[in-house]
Amino acid sequence: MFKSARIKLTTWYLTIIMLVSLCFSFFIYRAVSTELEMGFRRAEIRHHAQDMGLQLPRRFSMRQEELRPELQEIAPRFLFIEDLEEAKRAVLFRLVTVNGVILLVSALASYLMAGNTLAPIEKAMEEQKRFVADASHELRTPLTALKTSMEVALREKQFNSKQAKIVLKEAVTDIDHLANLSTKMLRLSSLQQGSKIKFSAVDLSELVKDVTNKIKPLAREKEIQIETDLTKCIIEADSEQIREMITILIDNAIKYSNKKDKVKFTLKPLKKYVQIIIQDSGIGIAQKHLPHIFDRFYRVDSSRSKKKADGFGLGLSLAKQIIEVHEGRIDVVSRVEKGTTFIVKLPLKKS
Ligand code: ADP
Repeated sequence: MFKSARIKLTTWYLTIIMLVSLCFSFFIYRAVSTELEMGFRRAEIRHHAQDMGLQLPRRFSMRQEELRPELQEIAPRFLFIEDLEEAKRAVLFRLVTVNGVILLVSALASYLMAGNTLAPIEKAMEEQKRFVADASHELRTPLTALKTSMEVALREKQFNSKQAKIVLKEAVTDIDHLANLSTKMLRLSSLQQGSKIKFSAVDLSELVKDVTNKIKPLAREKEIQIETDLTKCIIEADSEQIREMITILIDNAIKYSNKKDKVKFTLKPLKKYVQIIIQDSGIGIAQKHLPHIFDRFYRVDSSRSKKKADGFGLGLSLAKQIIEVHEGRIDVVSRVEKGTTFIVKLPLKKS
């Protein structure tokens, strides 16, 4: 599909370039021809004038009525007509050659330009396709599990209310999982489509305090201690989106930490940015996985990380998207079994 689009675009670029080039060549040919005719005429008149022993100034008017009467008769004639035609043919030949070269060079340039123009569209379409394929895969797994448990329950001859409750409980868990997944996918898609951001002044330290308070019960389950080092920082941002991003990062820090580990949250204002550091001493991420963890649906394929926490591999891509919408950046440093540090930089509010 993109090959034929590239060829079509190349043809369009080439047509435009060649039209411009041919128009220029036509005007150049016309101008040079006129100049040649004038030059030849002037040379002929001067030649005849010399034969007649007349002296002409360096520049003289060639209008019939302004010429000397002796010269008026020979002025319209072209004695060197063949030389003139030869000179015009030479000009034409040069122009055709130049246009031939332009055609070849611009065909190549147009092909490259068309490739460059289509590359981001091709990338976006590839991503879209991958997203749809991954999303359907993620949706199908819990749906299949749900269907199987229902079918098994239906086949059961004696099905008491206790068994029914177990099946229904599992079904509710699967449905929750699906609902969670579709919410995350919708959030990601709306962010990617440039959903409206409600910018306002946000006190980041207050927001972090609020998030950590809400997440404390989860940390307590694993006896994880959350340490904070917060300096008051005001940023211009969508507070709900920033809350979501911080929740994802703290939630991951807890999810991928061992029992009794520590999670440290630091807020540090720099010159133009605020630095948010979320540091854990958990299972860490192997170097080879680091470049991919922000990709949609990417989960580190280690039995430890999968066993320890369930998820869809959408959290970090969502967090990154939010940060980018706010003109910030996110970096990660990690060592297996030593822990992971995420460093987020967001622009401070211009005072
Ligand atoms: P998930 O829903 O799987 O947590 P994320 O997009 O949030 O998806 O994270 C992608 C993957 O990156 C995770 O599956 C996990 O393997 C790894 N990861 C993210 N945060 C951490 C962390 N703090 N420590 C170790 N691994 C992490």
